[in-house]
Amino acid sequence: MTVAPLIDNKSLITPVIGSDNLKYTPRPAIFADVPDEKWNDWRWQMANRINSIEQLEQIIDLTDEERQGLQAEGLFRADITPYFAGLLEVDDPYGPVRQQVIPKGAEAVAFDAMMADSLNEDAHSPVPGLVHRYPDRVLMLITTQCATYCRYCTRSRVVGDSSANYTRADHDRQIAYIRDNPDVRDVLLSGGDPLVVAPAILEDLLKRLSEIPHLELIRIGSRVPIFLPQRVTDELCDMLRKYHPLWLNVHVNHPREITPELSRALAKLADAGIPLGNQSVLLRGVNDHPEVQMELVHKLVKNRVRPYYLYQCDLVQGAGHFRTPVSVGIEIIEALRGHTSGFAVPTYVVDAPGGGGKIPVMPEYVVSSGPNRVVLRNYEGFITTYAEPDAPYTRDDAQMLRYLERPARDEGVQEGVSGLASGQHMTIKPEGFEEAHQRGRQDEIEKRGKRNFMDDYS
Ligand code: SF4
Repeated sequence: MTVAPLIDNKSLITPVIGSDNLKYTPRPAIFADVPDEKWNDWRWQMANRINSIEQLEQIIDLTDEERQGLQAEGLFRADITPYFAGLLEVDDPYGPVRQQVIPKGAEAVAFDAMMADSLNEDAHSPVPGLVHRYPDRVLMLITTQCATYCRYCTRSRVVGDSSANYTRADHDRQIAYIRDNPDVRDVLLSGGDPLVVAPAILEDLLKRLSEIPHLELIRIGSRVPIFLPQRVTDELCDMLRKYHPLWLNVHVNHPREITPELSRALAKLADAGIPLGNQSVLLRGVNDHPEVQMELVHKLVKNRVRPYYLYQCDLVQGAGHFRTPVSVGIEIIEALRGHTSGFAVPTYVVDAPGGGGKIPVMPEYVVSSGPNRVVLRNYEGFITTYAEPDAPYTRDDAQMLRYLERPARDEGVQEGVSGLASGQHMTIKPEGFEEAHQRGRQDEIEKRGKRNFMDDYS
């Protein structure tokens, strides 16, 4: 592959045409002398990441606030691949790409409810780096390293710290846990970024996971295609396709990140039969506008990527200045649903602080209901009535389940509200509920035990 003669990116943000007639993102001028072979080598990109004020000053006009951020004590690691540095908005400190990767002094400002581990992942880790939050799937953190570091990172407590990286022994324990837990049918490899791990190690992990009989699929969450599209080589795709069903979620926040290089990387992955999804984070000043989100989802689906989640920004330290009200997310979904293809609309979620998992949030579409009818509104404000069946609704559960391959799993307390809807339980009680409502009947509480979550229906 060859790249066009180098152009000073201080004057250009549009792609340039290379001598091979492909489009390329302009390179920062400081890399003018780098041969194309090196520029297109992901290892060279990783080894030459930008992380100093001196280097950044040669690429963009740094503001005082950015200088302050870069010099802050205890700074969450800042590293930017030379390729991605070509997307930095040179003279716009509010540029959507620049704000995601250049530190600001505002990172040091504390806010109410700020946490280091806002999703309480550490408490859900039976072995280091393995998070078992949901009944049938686990998150497997295989590295703390990334190609470039996002200023709002949820795992900034460990990400970027090479001394905290996961070892072969950690990987062994993670895999052993999955092997010993037959309820786990889905594993998500994340980090850090799994695609920066040495190819032989990554393949070894995928191979060992694919040999676990009860594991039905493997997922990878990666921002490498965005920060380092050079890593998406034919060899990588040939290796990944050996471990199907394998899904991959990328992480694009703004349409400007969808460059010709990223498009080609996504095409390679899709051609390898890998279903692609996108997770983005709602970030103040970056993508908190319905029109930005509309352009983003349209560009994603053109690249065969299904918008999957739009996350509310977590309550993580360092990310306070990126947070928006939840109402902004609802406004965005209101502007997408019905206004564009259904599969282009992501699910907007709040990842519950304290480890409650993802909670979908959306506009209200059920306006009212009456006997045998539900009143609904559509995206235009058209209000209609859906008439329900007149006959009482019954369901033959035994017949329904007769042809399933897998017996129903017992999720215990994690059945949650679904357990109420199906009649397994009648109530869910907050801790201390019994005591508060059995005043003076301590003997009764002790007799029944302190079942503080679910109460049997019977
Ligand atoms: S790529 Fe993911 S893990 Fe790495 S810094 Fe960005 S958000 Fe955090």
